[in-house]
Amino acid sequence: MNAKPESLLPPLDVERIRADFPLLARTVHDKPLIYFDNANTGQKPRSVIEAVDRHYREHNANVARAVHQLGEEATAAYEGARDAIARFIHAPSRDEVILTSGTTQSINLVAYSYALPRLKAGDAILTTVMEHHANIVPWQLVAERTGATVKAAPIDANGELIVERFVEMLTPEVKLACVTHVSNVLGTVNPIREIARECRKRGIPLLVDGSQAAPHRPIDVQALGCDFYAITGHKMLAPTGTGALWAKREHLMAMPPFFGGGEMIREVRFEGTVFADPPHRFEAGTPNIAGFAGVAAAIEYLEGVGFDRLKAYEQDLLAYATAALEDLPGIRIFGRAKEKEPVISFLLEGAHANDMATLLDLQGVAVRSGHHCAHPLMHFFGVPATLRASLAFYNTKAEVDGFVDAIGRVRKLLM
Ligand code: PLP
Repeated sequence: MNAKPESLLPPLDVERIRADFPLLARTVHDKPLIYFDNANTGQKPRSVIEAVDRHYREHNANVARAVHQLGEEATAAYEGARDAIARFIHAPSRDEVILTSGTTQSINLVAYSYALPRLKAGDAILTTVMEHHANIVPWQLVAERTGATVKAAPIDANGELIVERFVEMLTPEVKLACVTHVSNVLGTVNPIREIARECRKRGIPLLVDGSQAAPHRPIDVQALGCDFYAITGHKMLAPTGTGALWAKREHLMAMPPFFGGGEMIREVRFEGTVFADPPHRFEAGTPNIAGFAGVAAAIEYLEGVGFDRLKAYEQDLLAYATAALEDLPGIRIFGRAKEKEPVISFLLEGAHANDMATLLDLQGVAVRSGHHCAHPLMHFFGVPATLRASLAFYNTKAEVDGFVDAIGRVRKLLM
C-alpha cells in the first residue's frame, strides 16, 4: 500500500502526541510543567527511551569488533542510525555521514581536519553575527594557529542576515563560509540555497550548522547545495551525545583523521598507519551505541509525524505565542524575520532575564535565560541576556496561555 502524501494526512493530534512523551506529564514546583526550552534540548518520546533501554537490556556489545551475535546486533543498531540519518538529510551516500557526539564535535572535526591543514596567514573564514559559539570559537582557534582571520557578516534589526553584505564579504581570501541554518536565539531561517549558490560560484565551501533546523523542517543537503551539514541528536528527540556531520565525499577523502585510535584504521604498524576510508576514519573509539539506537527511533518518530503537519502546527503555535506576548505591556521581542522557526527571544522592560526565568520556573514554566551561547548577537542587540521561549510540536496553545499568565504573575512580583 502506498503511504499517503503528508498533505492528505489529518492535522496533528497534539494530545495523542503528548501521551508519547512521559516527561510532559510531570509537575515542577507542584505546577504542571510547561516546557518551552526545546531549542536547548528536546524531550524524548517513549519509543526513543525504549530503544535505548532495549539496547542495554537485549543487545549490548561493542560495534564492529565482535563476530558474535550481540556484536552484530549492536553494529546493526549503530549502522542503522547512519542509514536513518542519511535518509533524513537526503545524503547521497551513507558513507558521507560521520556519527559524532553532536554539532560541537561535528564542527570541530571540520575545523581541525579540513580547515587547519589548508588555512594560511591572510586567509579568512566568513561566518555571521547570529552564530552559536560552536560555529565561532572553533574557527577562532584554527585562525589563531594559522594566521587566518574570522569575519562576521552583519544582520539587520529584524534579525535577518543581510545577504548582499554576506555575498560582498565572500572575497578571494575567504576559504570557508560557516552559517547557521536557523538561529538558536531568534529563530531566523537563513536562505541557505542562495548562500550556497553564491559560495559555489566563488569556489568557497560552505558549512551549515543545522542544529536548530533539523527538529523543525525537512533537510535535503543536496538541494541546499552546501558542502558540510552538522546536526545534533538531542534537539531532535534523540539522546544527548549523538549527532552527525555530513560532508561531500571529495572533502572527506581529502581530510586526515581528527582523533586517532581503534576502529579508524586499516592497518597499524610503527612504521606508519593506513587509515580506514570515511566514515570510519573519523570515528575512533567506542561510540554512543545506545544513543544511536535512540537516534534511529527519533527519526522514525519524526517521519511518522511528518514535517508538513509538524510545520503547520508549529507555525500556528508560533504566531499565537507571538501575538499573546505582544499583547503584554513592556515586552520587547528580538527577531522578526519573515521566515522563523518557533523560537521567541524577549525581555520584559525593567526585569532581568535571569530573575524572570527563576520566577517562571516556580510557576512550572521552563524557559532559558542568558546569552544563549551567542555573545556577538547579544552585543548586536545591546543586551547582556534575553529570555527565550522555544516551542515544539508537542506544546499547546493552552500552555502558551499558561506561560503568558505566569509572566503576568511574575511581573506583579517584580514591579
Ligand atoms: N549550534 C546551534 C545553533 C545550537 O543551538 C547548539 C546548541 O545549543 C549547538 C550548535 C551546539 O550543539 P551541541 O551542544 O549539541 O553540540
